[in-house]
Amino acid sequence: MATVGEGCAREASGVVDAPNATRAMRGARREVERWMRKNVFHRVATSRANARARAVETARDRDGDSPPRAFDDGDARRRRRSETNASTSAWDGGIKNSRGRFVAPELVDAHGRAHTYLRISLTERCNLRCGYCMPEEGVELTPNDELLTTDEVERVIKIFARAGVEKVRLTGGEPTVRRDLEEVVRRARETPGVRDVSVTTNGVALERRLEGLKASGLTRLNVSLDTLVPAKFEFMTRRRGHERVLRSVARAVELGFQSVKVNCVVTRHQNDDELIDFVNMTKDSPINVRFIEYMPFDGNKWSTEKMVSYAEMRSRIEDAFGPLARLDDPIEEVAKNFSVPGHVGTVSFVTSMTDAFCGGCNRLRVMADGNLKVCLFGAAETSLRDAMRSGADDDAILRLIGAAVSKKKASHAGMHEIAASDNRAMIKIGG
Ligand code: SAM
Ligand code: SF4
Repeated sequence: MATVGEGCAREASGVVDAPNATRAMRGARREVERWMRKNVFHRVATSRANARARAVETARDRDGDSPPRAFDDGDARRRRRSETNASTSAWDGGIKNSRGRFVAPELVDAHGRAHTYLRISLTERCNLRCGYCMPEEGVELTPNDELLTTDEVERVIKIFARAGVEKVRLTGGEPTVRRDLEEVVRRARETPGVRDVSVTTNGVALERRLEGLKASGLTRLNVSLDTLVPAKFEFMTRRRGHERVLRSVARAVELGFQSVKVNCVVTRHQNDDELIDFVNMTKDSPINVRFIEYMPFDGNKWSTEKMVSYAEMRSRIEDAFGPLARLDDPIEEVAKNFSVPGHVGTVSFVTSMTDAFCGGCNRLRVMADGNLKVCLFGAAETSLRDAMRSGADDDAILRLIGAAVSKKKASHAGMHEIAASDNRAMIKIGG
């Protein structure tokens, strides 16, 4: 049986021939009515036949580079369910996300956004002290025994992946301060349903870990670097390591990760004079430089004066390089991506402050202490750690996640409101 969306698309494209058109219209209308009655987005019936069809379909459209998964038929699906002791239908209901993958209703919010991307912060510690992230006075660190263990991180990934998460990004603090980073990557990559595991890092201690990370299955890397001037690096991060970051980026490109991105937070009078130099990094190297608007978080002394807007950055870059050509971005893409005439690499802008991209947001965040945050700029948090440690089973945890997701707002507040509201310091969220 086709979903409502599929039925309408067929008619719109004229595939339904004239003699059958009336019947098809009636069928489509019935489907629309049924869909409205249920008030869910593209919910697929949970009959056994459809469950089988889903499992087969999911297996078929799985990416070729993903590790082998177990659920390729109805029996495997039942096995998978019994493995999790799931007695209810939590894993059975479902909608299709924009890629046609199945997502449990618990990961779909009231605005129809299917959350298939999970960011996990592995630590609150860092070997740098970037002013926009780490408050000058430091942050109160959560005691070690209150942080998620490797096994708990794995369990969280499994619960989300079974519900439909496909992409996992590991962040921090600085994720390379965790000795088990390669192990976490490996376990994430081996989790059925996960097709992409990436890391966001400052790159200082990355170079010697790169081969191990690649061998563990890491697909993408984002390396943060805000200046190409060594002395400025020390001033902006309050630590040394500029040369090591550059070496990490070069080695990551050599090793051929699926993508290597350089994250650059642009701050007026600090590094906005380096926009052109950063774009020049993409001339002969297949990297993506992402210019990020400076965002307000607790303790980072944000002001509109310090923030350089997307419009200004783009216009200054276009003055030097000519018009940038917009690439075709998927709806859930947070960055605006562009090619630069004659360059191998690309540039992007993350415009959270001047042009929010909440409509396509598919992200959820679990922080190092196990709290789930449904919006980067929202204060609401739910402790998955406490639920896990009090013996909750996977179904109960998924319901907890569902309750948090259902309260996610359509969009975050404006920048001034965000600046005036309480949130964690960025270092304790993870970007
Ligand atoms: N330590 C790693 C790193 O620096 O890449 C990962 C954690 S860091 C919090 C994740 C990302 O958030 C980095 O790219 C960083 O530049 C970005 N970030 C931190 N504070 C920010 C802010 N106030 N505005 C915009 N981006 C910020
Ligand atoms: Fe550390 Fe990354 Fe925050 Fe800089 S942005 S202080 S490197 S966590």
